[in-house]
Amino acid sequence: MSQDLLSLLDRFAEIGATPGGGVRRLTGSDEDGAARRLFAEIAEARGARLHVDPVGNMFATFPTAPGSDATVLAGSHLDSQPTGGRFDGALGVLSALVAASEIHAEGGPAAHNLTVVNWTNEEGARFQPSLTGSSVFNGKYDAGFALGLPDRLGTTMGEALALIGYLGEAPFPLRPVRNLELHVEQGGHLEATGVQIGAVTASWGVRKLTLSFVGEPSHTGPTAMHQRRDAMRAAAWAITEFHRLMEAEAEHVELHWSAAKIVAEPDSPNVVASRVTVYFEMRNPAQQICTAVGDRFLAAIRPHVEAMGIGIETFTDEARPGTSLDPVGVAMTLEACAELGVRAVPMMTITGHDALALAAMMPSNLVFVPSVNGLSHNEAELTHPEDLANGCAVVKALLERMISEQG
Ligand SMILES: [Zn+2]
Repeated sequence: MSQDLLSLLDRFAEIGATPGGGVRRLTGSDEDGAARRLFAEIAEARGARLHVDPVGNMFATFPTAPGSDATVLAGSHLDSQPTGGRFDGALGVLSALVAASEIHAEGGPAAHNLTVVNWTNEEGARFQPSLTGSSVFNGKYDAGFALGLPDRLGTTMGEALALIGYLGEAPFPLRPVRNLELHVEQGGHLEATGVQIGAVTASWGVRKLTLSFVGEPSHTGPTAMHQRRDAMRAAAWAITEFHRLMEAEAEHVELHWSAAKIVAEPDSPNVVASRVTVYFEMRNPAQQICTAVGDRFLAAIRPHVEAMGIGIETFTDEARPGTSLDPVGVAMTLEACAELGVRAVPMMTITGHDALALAAMMPSNLVFVPSVNGLSHNEAELTHPEDLANGCAVVKALLERMISEQG
């Protein structure tokens, strides 16, 4: 089983491979198309039936209970960050594929079918917001909204998916009863504590606050300094102030924060920036804390920015409250690990995952394996082979239990 997983991970790591040992597979790119085709080909060769839904989510169903319309979902995503790691997402899809195809081949009795899923645009690197495919599946967004999302050159997600042949058909026809996702931790907790598996109980809350600083375009040369309404200058000041304020907040509460993306308009070296949009993010186990620190940040910067002659517009302001995963599945995970002789602990996740989106519509679980140095969204992301093997064994043990449950 683990050799199968390692060789599949190697094959997918070649698609969109970057010089630094990572991958670049943006949603709707040629590389995404190649990864999708390889996934479909391998799943079908192993006996799965493939379905693509209207936003390109891929469902490979192994008919473990052919008379039933119910299925257990297991998967993650094959898209990546621009300089992403080779395990983030791919591990969840491929470990589910390995486990499901083995369970199917073994042919034991089951109450439910088993569907391996590749969710579209989990990363949100090319099209925002992230978790797009799973959030259409759970009814949070409608398909038209998702397909109309533009990338920075104006190509929509629908156009990009059509170009690679993955603009799907009808909604997924089976009735999902449970969901399972294996993912690399993307943090250092498991490694630091010498634990092999994390059974995730819930996620931190996050506030994603995207602000546009609005000034006026003018020539960067002759325009008198006192006449400039420089949105870039205001945004740069606000980013620095954001970090100063969050550091002060973090003396009282556990807080992770970032300002990780800016979009400047008109984006010419010869024009004073008229609009600069900055993506701020604040995370804490409790959503109220994220809301409160974000409000205090906005209140603190507004007068200073306005005094620079710059307006502040809220581009998007998204609250993602912490989500609880299925406690029965958490207990099942700890029990399966005990049987396998693998050390496991319950823990929270700071990052967003498809499993969290899906928890809105069905019992959903998320399982972590360690990341070396906690590194992720980085080409050097690494999980050791023995940890990958443990993760895959746990997925198989859980899926065996989950397809046997009645209901
Ligand atoms: Zn991921």
